[in-house]
Amino acid sequence: MSLFQRDVTVCVLSSGSAGNCTYVGDGHAGVLIDCGVSTKQILTRMAEVGLADAPIDAVLVTHEHTDHIGAAAILGRALAKRGRPVPFYMTRGTSVGVPEPSVPDGVEIIEAGTGFRVRHLHVEPIPVPHDTRDPVAYRINVGDAAVAVITDLGRPTALLARHMRECHAVVLEFNHDEDMLMEGPYPYPLKQRIKGSHGHLSNRQAQDLLMDGLGAHLRHLMLAHLSEDNNTPTRALVAAQMTLQAGGAFGRVAVNVCLQRAALPPVKVQTRTW
Ligand SMILES: [Zn+2]
Ligand SMILES: [Zn+2]
Repeated sequence: MSLFQRDVTVCVLSSGSAGNCTYVGDGHAGVLIDCGVSTKQILTRMAEVGLADAPIDAVLVTHEHTDHIGAAAILGRALAKRGRPVPFYMTRGTSVGVPEPSVPDGVEIIEAGTGFRVRHLHVEPIPVPHDTRDPVAYRINVGDAAVAVITDLGRPTALLARHMRECHAVVLEFNHDEDMLMEGPYPYPLKQRIKGSHGHLSNRQAQDLLMDGLGAHLRHLMLAHLSEDNNTPTRALVAAQMTLQAGGAFGRVAVNVCLQRAALPPVKVQTRTW
């Protein structure tokens, strides 16, 4: 039996209400999680961080909101032209809800809670409470490394915390500061939607989930889907660091705030594969 060591790269290419896309791969296989920014932005940003030639074997779609699936049809055609036609994995509910212009070729239906493989990557779709038909978060295992992308949820769940505890890198929604949201400019019904149990995770709720899901392996935490109107990078960062401190993980976990208009530098997690 031989042992291979390789790095799993996690790169948040864009995050926020104007578009989401994250790359996870190990040089031999890779996936995009969501494609809510333009195809040009996705490919340009991948090139800018040294991932121009990184394999894209599938796109994993979390749910049908445009900021997660807007580019699907065009991205599918662009990848097919490059000689890499890729499947778009999504739940049946999500597939029903995709706006017509965004429907890609090659939809593969998955079920929340039922894992599947993209080449040697093990993908686990995890149900999340959000105001769409059948939304999921994703955990990806490569060898003994685990990465999770968890955004667009209205409240923490025990199931998500259980998955997070086994992860080395987590992209986690820190959408809004509750005071800023309630005192801010949004109309009352929108405030209620965001705050609701199927809306978005506040800094405080993200802290609760992080505390519950803080595991010994965690090395990288990326704060995602920040509201530009109802949060600040500093507030999210302070909230995350306070929780890491309380959980005895301060200094062990590198924390970064994801950006809407640029990719974060790629994060690397070492994996061993037998
Ligand atoms: Zn979103
Ligand atoms: Zn959403």
